[in-house]
Amino acid sequence: MGGDVFVSVRGRVILNAEALNMTESVGNYVRHRRVPVVVRKGGEYVTIHVPAVSGEAVAHGYQELLANEASGMGLNVCGLCAKGIFLKSSNLNVVAHAHGDSVADIVRGKAKGRAETQRLAHEFEKAVIKGCVVEDVGGFLYAERGGKVAVKQVKRTSNFYVGYMIPVAEGLEAAVTEAQLHSRYALGTEFVEREEGERGMGQMIYYVEIGSAPYTFSFDLDTRYVGRTTYVAAHAGEPAVSEDERVRRIEAALNALKKLVLELGFGAKKTRFLPTVEWESLVIAVSNNVWTVPSPFSANYVEAARKKLSLVSEATKLHIYEAGGKRTLEEVLEEAVKDAVSRLEKH
Ligand SMILES: [Zn+2]
Repeated sequence: MGGDVFVSVRGRVILNAEALNMTESVGNYVRHRRVPVVVRKGGEYVTIHVPAVSGEAVAHGYQELLANEASGMGLNVCGLCAKGIFLKSSNLNVVAHAHGDSVADIVRGKAKGRAETQRLAHEFEKAVIKGCVVEDVGGFLYAERGGKVAVKQVKRTSNFYVGYMIPVAEGLEAAVTEAQLHSRYALGTEFVEREEGERGMGQMIYYVEIGSAPYTFSFDLDTRYVGRTTYVAAHAGEPAVSEDERVRRIEAALNALKKLVLELGFGAKKTRFLPTVEWESLVIAVSNNVWTVPSPFSANYVEAARKKLSLVSEATKLHIYEAGGKRTLEEVLEEAVKDAVSRLEKH
């Protein structure tokens, strides 16, 4: 029997000139995501609006990496998740397309009482887990509005947790978004004409807001239910795949996490707004049970993590990267992944 592992990651990363998470375009103006942050200033609390990258954006990037990693290891990934289309078994149509009719047939048909509905819901979750590592690790929500189904809803909570990346406490006032002017210039070509007195013809002008800030980064992975069912309480924790495959799926999840950090594997607009990236610090706590690293919003979070460990431990080991320190980010990530995998094989 393999064991479980809980991996908690918190970090600080300086991102300059990024457009990783845009919210809307108004005409030719594309806005960067902003969030309100409340902090104490003197004896009062004040609200500051700062650039941010949503947890959804990080999760999307992570799941793309996970799909690649899992496919590369020969593990099951459904046809939609493999393409980065995370509809994740949201209705019967999607299920039939991504997992095939045999899985859709489980929930099709007439309900035959509550016990039978529960059994089918359990079988359905099991089949979806089996068929797709992304939906196993990242969860899914099936909700079919059509009348002719035995099971109308099955929900699987994600086994990984991410949050908004916001500027760190001391960086709140330094964080900026600024609209940058860009133009596509086509004057002097046969495609545009300049009329008398007109300005700007042949130029497509547009603005993109870029953000620059020292951002927080948070990610937790709880392996307890990877490869195991959760939806029907009576069956929670039942294996949907072999123990050997479960361990390989968790390895895929950990490798994807490594890439997420090393390659900054998330965010949009990277073809023309590839940010400069500088990790300042990263703490990875590997534990046998839930143990999260304190928030990197505060400058002393690395120390706070050490202090927490001296008081509370779930066989926790901290793997710490600090810029200018002896070890590289790659080494620390590698060591943490090895630690996590060894726990799966051991207890
Ligand atoms: Zn899928």
